[in-house]
Amino acid sequence: MNDANDLLSLCKRRGFIWPSFEMYGGVAGMFDYGPLGCVLKNNIVEVWRAIYKGREGFVEIDSETVNPREVFKASGHVDGFADLMTYCRACGSPFRADHLVKDHYENPDVLTPAELDESFARFGVTCPECGGQLGPVEEFNLMFKTNIGPGSDRVGYLRPETAQGIFVNFPNLYRYNREKMPLGVIQTGRGYRNEIAPRQGMIRMREFNMMEVELFVDPDDKDWPGFPGIEGEELVLVPNTGEETLTMTVGRAVEEGIIANRVLAYFIHTTKQLLVRLGVDPARLRFRQHLPDEMAHYAADCWDAEVLLSYGWTEITGIADRGCWDLSRHAQFSGTDLTHFRRFDEPREVETERVRARHKALGPAFKGRAKAVAAALEAVSPSEVRDGRLTVIADGEETVLTDEYFEVVKVTEKAAGERVVPHVIEPSHGLDRIFYSVLEHAYAHDAEKDYTVLRLRPEVAPVKLGVFPLMERDGLDDLARRIYGEVHDHRVEAYYDGSGTIGRRYARMDEIGTPWCVTVDYASVEDGPDRGTVTIRDRDTTEQRRIRIEDVRPVVEGLLEGRLDFASL
Ligand code: AMP
Repeated sequence: MNDANDLLSLCKRRGFIWPSFEMYGGVAGMFDYGPLGCVLKNNIVEVWRAIYKGREGFVEIDSETVNPREVFKASGHVDGFADLMTYCRACGSPFRADHLVKDHYENPDVLTPAELDESFARFGVTCPECGGQLGPVEEFNLMFKTNIGPGSDRVGYLRPETAQGIFVNFPNLYRYNREKMPLGVIQTGRGYRNEIAPRQGMIRMREFNMMEVELFVDPDDKDWPGFPGIEGEELVLVPNTGEETLTMTVGRAVEEGIIANRVLAYFIHTTKQLLVRLGVDPARLRFRQHLPDEMAHYAADCWDAEVLLSYGWTEITGIADRGCWDLSRHAQFSGTDLTHFRRFDEPREVETERVRARHKALGPAFKGRAKAVAAALEAVSPSEVRDGRLTVIADGEETVLTDEYFEVVKVTEKAAGERVVPHVIEPSHGLDRIFYSVLEHAYAHDAEKDYTVLRLRPEVAPVKLGVFPLMERDGLDDLARRIYGEVHDHRVEAYYDGSGTIGRRYARMDEIGTPWCVTVDYASVEDGPDRGTVTIRDRDTTEQRRIRIEDVRPVVEGLLEGRLDFASL
């Protein structure tokens, strides 16, 4: 049995996900969410939001998906966001070059084009489709390019990640947060990557959904208030030092320098909490540290949350301490100040540089304007000196001055604080990969009985309650419809089903992960609709209880919120 194929066909049949544009032959790496998938996806986002926005107090934004070139020039994507590819010389199929040698290297995505060409020859790698010879390895930028407005003057790109929208809004966000650190921001939305040859279902998509978190912190304060509450919790870690997989507490991982700092460790643990709460099996979840040659050069530390799927261990979330890279780059490219003013507890003597006017030279040269020029000179920052010259505006007139008229001196003065570039801690979640992992870990197929149950966590299950009349007559159907109407809303979706045997109806609900079903039978109507009872069945144990009709909604809500336990009903 192939879990991935069986699951994908279930998803298609029952309306979780559909390959996009199927009637036109489809496009690899593109999927649409059907009615059940849409609810499951939204439920996943709600849990993520509850953790970050609710518990941690982050703010949420929603920024543009088409960005001008400048943004991705600064972020490094225009020059560096490329995969290496090759074409088959015979059949023309494109391939990601590193994927073709993955059996020969632990980390093939760090190989250069020349090394890949050479390894094709050494290992006799040919086209996996037709056995033909492979062409030279070349770079392929993964961003979708477009033009903003008519003509081709303003180049834009579809964003390959949502993160940049947060970085370029830093001045607005910083002001909104009343110029305080830490500042936590979340954003969910689409990212676009023109993947070379997407072949692994929802794992590699060309248009995908992200749930990104950017936490801006003071570079000298990498602690987090919630840390003491979780330092005793365990994580499964694969450090990049070549050791075995380790199971250790968050606290020890930081003490031993395995995870760089407390705030990063806290959010690695938060990622575990999120994924497990969504239904990822903790026994099939680990955190793998990027190898030194895999880690971005600016990153202080970087870990991937990996889950074991039928495709093997798969990255579903990346969690990195990105240092000051993002804000420094945007400051440099845009000329905007993206620093945080870190206040000292008490004003301190600090040594700094200042521009001083050379009055003796200014007087004879500028006569009546000398005073104004001197004042203008002393108001500018030494960082504005270019090639020994400063441009100032005095008495409304622009004047360029050589260093004959000024000097840069070191002075000691009292300061209330200093400017620092915040560091960024980034948990970046791939929503579609999480969606797929949750489904695969929930998927249980009994081959003997040919029976499938999706053991989705009730919190994320798209339908919470199936409502069935035993027979669609004698008023059983009316009562079942009334119960359905009382329970169903956009938050607690119910599903009315009156056709087929009860067994068939349970099977249909089990297959889409509905945690509970109620059945209206003759006993339900005999005592009158206000005093009667119905059976409620639990998906995972198949146990049944009788509860009063008027209790159906509160019981379902209680079970959903974890206030009630099915066994004690
Ligand atoms: P990255 O910015 O490459 O670290 O990606 C962040 C997260 O986005 C990854 O952990 C994946 O879960 C997800 N992701 C990246 N590329 C794709 C893709 N082509 N299709 C689906 N999800 C992706």
